Amino acid sequence: MTIGLLKGVNAPGHKGWSTARCSICNKKLDLFNAVEYHDVYVCPKCGKFLCAADARRVKYRCPYDGVELQPYY
Ligand SMILES: [Zn+2]
Ligand SMILES: [Zn+2]
Repeated sequence: MTIGLLKGVNAPGHKGWSTARCSICNKKLDLFNAVEYHDVYVCPKCGKFLCAADARRVKYRCPYDGVELQPYY
C-alpha cells in the first residue's frame, strides 16, 4: 500500500489514526501499523503500551504489575 499517498491527505473518515506512547521510553507508537508489524505490546491489566524493544527488555512482563504483555493487534 502507498503510505505516501495517505499521509498529508485530509481524507474524510481518516481521523482514526490511533497512536500511543511507549510508557517507558515515550516513543510514539503507531497502533495502525502495529497490527501489521506486531511491534507494540500492551499490558492487559493496566493498559500501558510498550514498544517492542522495551517489551523485550522487561521480558514481556509489565514493569508496573508483572502481568504478561500481549502483542497489540
Ligand atoms: Zn519504548
Ligand atoms: Zn500493567
